[in-house]
Amino acid sequence: MNGYGGSILRINLTTAKISKESTPTNVMRDFIGGRGFGAYYLFKEVPKGADPLGTENKLIISSGPMSGLMIPGAGKCDFTTKSPLTGGYASASMGGHFTAEMKYAGLDSIILEGISSKPVYLFIDNDKIELRDANELWGKGTITVEKHFKEVFGEEFQVAVIGPGGENLVSYACINHDFGRQAGRGGVGAVMGVKKLKAIVIHGTKSISVADNKTYRQAGKALYKACKEASFLPEWTRYGTTVVTSWCDEVGALPTRNFSAGSFEDGKNLYAPVMREKIVITDKGCFGCPSPCGKYSRSKKYGSNVEGPEYETIGLMGSNLGISDIEAVAQANLLADDLGIDTISAGNAIGWAMECYEKGIFTKDDTDGVDLKFGNVEATFDLIGKIARKEGLGALLAEGVKKASRKIGKGTEKFAIHVKGMEQSAYATHNATAMLLAYMTCDVGAHHNRSWAITYDLQVGRDLVVPEKVARVIWLQNFRPMFDVFGGCRLQWVELGIDRDLYIPALEAITGVHRTWEDFEKVGERIWNLTRLFWARENEGFGRNWDMPAPRFYEEAPKSGATKGQITKLEDVNLLLDMYYEQRGWTSDGLPTHERLSELNLSDLVV
Ligand code: SF4
Repeated sequence: MNGYGGSILRINLTTAKISKESTPTNVMRDFIGGRGFGAYYLFKEVPKGADPLGTENKLIISSGPMSGLMIPGAGKCDFTTKSPLTGGYASASMGGHFTAEMKYAGLDSIILEGISSKPVYLFIDNDKIELRDANELWGKGTITVEKHFKEVFGEEFQVAVIGPGGENLVSYACINHDFGRQAGRGGVGAVMGVKKLKAIVIHGTKSISVADNKTYRQAGKALYKACKEASFLPEWTRYGTTVVTSWCDEVGALPTRNFSAGSFEDGKNLYAPVMREKIVITDKGCFGCPSPCGKYSRSKKYGSNVEGPEYETIGLMGSNLGISDIEAVAQANLLADDLGIDTISAGNAIGWAMECYEKGIFTKDDTDGVDLKFGNVEATFDLIGKIARKEGLGALLAEGVKKASRKIGKGTEKFAIHVKGMEQSAYATHNATAMLLAYMTCDVGAHHNRSWAITYDLQVGRDLVVPEKVARVIWLQNFRPMFDVFGGCRLQWVELGIDRDLYIPALEAITGVHRTWEDFEKVGERIWNLTRLFWARENEGFGRNWDMPAPRFYEEAPKSGATKGQITKLEDVNLLLDMYYEQRGWTSDGLPTHERLSELNLSDLVV
């Protein structure tokens, strides 16, 4: 089919066997690409009960039909696996230039299987595909290793690499690329680490066939024109995702001191204009992006350069830890990136540990004598290293807050901020029921990017528990992740407000298949149901209890920020889920029904 690389590459790291197969037509038709391919191969090929860090688990890396073409933001790559953090479905999206090279090498997916007996890296230059020794690189940071490969093979090679966090199997280890882009969430880096695969180095020169070249060019130009004419473009390009820091602080959504509050008294020091003025030196974007949100920064205080921090890192490594120095946040960002751990989960875990310390649950005996109070910058730097190396308290935090709090007990589970074992990203949801539901029901755990519903809460009433809010969350969950299926970026639609219908002729001209947004939303729903089924298959007793949010959001009033608009009863949380399951067509315990699966053409795959 047009728009695809045409091949699925399989690498068996146990046997060192390398093989290719044609991308199946039915998979392209029903799952389209990217996250859709990941969900399909995960469900079909990873056997029930597989250990996420065992030989049976696979890491599936997928591009989509948009990837590598001249469509705004066509540089997104999906990494899918069974998560070592949650035990369920993990899908992490990574920007940059990696996915374009996959397509130019003729690849739609790379499926990594088995476990190597020694450190290796995967070298791909078109059809030259080899596993090579990586012994000398094992233990080194992601930035050092990426620089090394760029020097050895040239700038045109793209690199995806793990750091010591992945090697040491930290549950939320990430995969790094382009000196600052990550497949961040769910521990995809630990799965690469256990396979002893240090890096993938890739370059391709093949062309991608499109069904209708003239229309593709016109449709691509129309999309770029819409981006260039968007009134928000200058502000977005100046600040990137940090544009929301002040807004979150004002509306009470900025995670502060382990989400105990939604605004930070020193938050102004972290706002976008302060960051731009103090540390940003240039803008940086992914492949084909007309609206680069990456901010490359230099901290004079720490003598360091880093891509970031973006909003999530400011929220979790800044206000959530009581840290108000943007240079310290940038330095924490650099340490986490180089060591290869997710800044969101790490910041959340350190926030939980700081609260344990301030409550007297941890003492200096637990912290190697460190005064682990909120705001302690040096302790934060120290803990990031300890998590990556699994040393001392870092070994506990490396398991994620769900497992760590269950080990410690003493009521610490109440302020472990996660859903399904994934640490919540940077929106405090005391007073935002749609966003709370979005986190509760997100397909990977408490992540924001599937359904960013918080603006809707503010529009219609923060504490409303009504079917319309639930419908909005579901629509966003079906629609927004489709960009991860196409292999593109959603932010041109989200932030620049370009008309989503502009993508329709582009996708049709690329693939030759006519589809409407209604059709695409159906595909989104198919993937959503399949991944829900994966959770249920892999976790005995999976159901409503797995969708519950951190009690902090309905049992405690936020210590600062907006205090109105909070739901305070467990019944209201359950009411949200009742409405959600009903609208999804699931059972009252949140499980997809046979009828629903049949309507979505999933019966064959499930049986
Ligand atoms: Fe990448 Fe940001 Fe551009 Fe999206 S908006 S393609 S994430 S640089």
